[in-house]
Amino acid sequence: MTDDAAALTCLARPLPGPDHTRAGCAAARGVDGRPLHAAALKFFWGPMDCGKSTMALQMNHNHSRQGRRGLVTTRIDRSLGPKITTRIGLAHEAIEVTDSLDLRTLVRDTWAEGVRVDYLICDEASFYSVAHVEQMADLVDSYDVDVYAFGLATDFRSCLFPAAQRLFELADEVARIQVEVLCWCGREGLLNARVVGGRVVREGAQVVIGDTMDSADVRYQVLCRRHYRSGDLGPATTDR
Ligand SMILES: [Zn+2]
Repeated sequence: MTDDAAALTCLARPLPGPDHTRAGCAAARGVDGRPLHAAALKFFWGPMDCGKSTMALQMNHNHSRQGRRGLVTTRIDRSLGPKITTRIGLAHEAIEVTDSLDLRTLVRDTWAEGVRVDYLICDEASFYSVAHVEQMADLVDSYDVDVYAFGLATDFRSCLFPAAQRLFELADEVARIQVEVLCWCGREGLLNARVVGGRVVREGAQVVIGDTMDSADVRYQVLCRRHYRSGDLGPATTDR
């Protein structure tokens, strides 16, 4: 992009919210008088059990305490309902993302109701479609809405989820969540193994709901790369 094109893009950025006409245009301030900031698309990723949903809810809490307004979305949460639940007991109502949902329409409809949207928290983002990720980028670039996406990077075959791949490609910032999940051997957990009948499986549908509890028919276990590749679930699974 040339410098001129960059300047044009910058000038073309609209003010946020449905009421931007009232806020004036080139003042670079939002509807409530706060200076406009450059919105960003951020992707926080990590294996199962690393606290992604907890961090998503904490981030929502922190932002709303600062007077910002946001929407929380999820897809296929372990509760199988339109809310985010976490393994440490937190829960929050959330909007269920379906293939037909356009995230930009969601924001525009909320604005039309007179409710400001400063940011979106997108939990379980690796289960969204690639189109949803494009919509996230558009929300940042054209609507000045921050988008914070949380999700797995890779599936049980150790391949990137399509939405996660697109997030790696498009996000302004990508961060691995620094809450250590350890493999049974003590190495850092990296990959999500799908376990059926006590064995690591490597073929099947990309998304199958399970949990990380031993009792589930289909469960997931976070392993280091070495033990993911060898399929060794460790002594803990038989001792428990
Ligand atoms: Zn290991």
